Amino acid sequence: MTTPTPGRVWAHVGQPFTPGSDPQPAYDVLILGAGRMGSALALALTERDPHLKTLLIEEGGLPNEDGATILAPGIWTLAHLPAAQHAAARWTLERLRTLLGDDLQARPYLTLHAEPAPGTQPTRDLLATHPQSLALLDPGVLPHATAHEAHLYRPGTLAQTAAQSAIRRGTDLLLNTRATPHPGGRVTLERLTVTNTHQIVTHATHTLHARLIVLATGAHAPTQAEHHLGIHTRHARAYRQTPHLGAPSTEDAPVLHAHGLTLRPQHGAYTLIPAVHHRDPHGYTPQGGHLTGVPTGLRRETLEDLVGLMDALPALATSDLHLGRSLADIPGAWLALPHGHPDAPPTHQRLDDHTHLLLGGPHADTLGLWTADALAREIAGGRGE
Ligand code: ADP
Repeated sequence: MTTPTPGRVWAHVGQPFTPGSDPQPAYDVLILGAGRMGSALALALTERDPHLKTLLIEEGGLPNEDGATILAPGIWTLAHLPAAQHAAARWTLERLRTLLGDDLQARPYLTLHAEPAPGTQPTRDLLATHPQSLALLDPGVLPHATAHEAHLYRPGTLAQTAAQSAIRRGTDLLLNTRATPHPGGRVTLERLTVTNTHQIVTHATHTLHARLIVLATGAHAPTQAEHHLGIHTRHARAYRQTPHLGAPSTEDAPVLHAHGLTLRPQHGAYTLIPAVHHRDPHGYTPQGGHLTGVPTGLRRETLEDLVGLMDALPALATSDLHLGRSLADIPGAWLALPHGHPDAPPTHQRLDDHTHLLLGGPHADTLGLWTADALAREIAGGRGE
């Protein structure tokens, strides 16, 4: 086996972008967006068809501060998946182990219920060795719990690791570059730079052609398909905020899940991952809601959910819950919703002769790597398996 020649990286506009001077296209595949989905696809392509020449293009850095990846929960679990998706989830877990090693951490995951169900145990028993976790909730309101297997990781680290491995295996990476797809396998690129007055401006533009383009631009992908390719899809997006709960958590504290809300132990406290109920309507601008007349940074739907859970989780009714004063105070990101549904698994779709779409969404932690690999297999046409 020959060692692949590592790919090239263009990080900033000081490095002239010279993808090759041949008259024929320099790349077989252009991947737009280096979140975890685009990065995972780049790596999978190097494995499924090492002869393909791929360029990964990202508007920001790796990972981008504004993308969904960096704020994703990073919780692998079967707790919310139908049995038909378990094999894909298990495959993803093996892949996470390979890519992340010790950065993937086994953790108990408890779903909490008001009523008993097959497999539930008393909440008090399951949390007997975790008094700090028990203190967050009212075991009288949530007396029953189910224990699930779960593994925690940082999705930003996953995107970085996958992209770096892809580069070692020959993928090129172009950062700080906004890509726009066009029909016929054409992509225009704007290399972005920041002026000394902090304005983002276009330093140079380029046009590339390739046999295949993959839109892995997260929540932007459906809009790009519609605006630039004229292809309407049923995919949608939602703005998800992940507020901070300042209650103490230990290194082995379980993840807790009640009525759609996930409490993820992180940095000695908790990150709250609220349910996504539905797609946000076209043109929705995220804005903070009011709690008893006081402005907060939390959107109204999330605020209502948290208020509704205060009896079951009294910790939410304390000053440990960071409500913020305006939107900027609460971490949040646009999340793609495959098929417009919060429960739909990650998906890929052929849009036209030259273009595929790759979407992660709410279940990307558990199934994203599988879907990226499925698209890589399709592009490789069964080769390399
Ligand atoms: P996913 O979970 O699908 O990877 P993310 O939102 O984390 O979702 O990733 C999408 C990435 O695509 C982000 O890093 C974002 O900066 C990038 N992106 C979005 N639009 C463009 C664009 N027009 N050109 C290049 N990159 C883009």
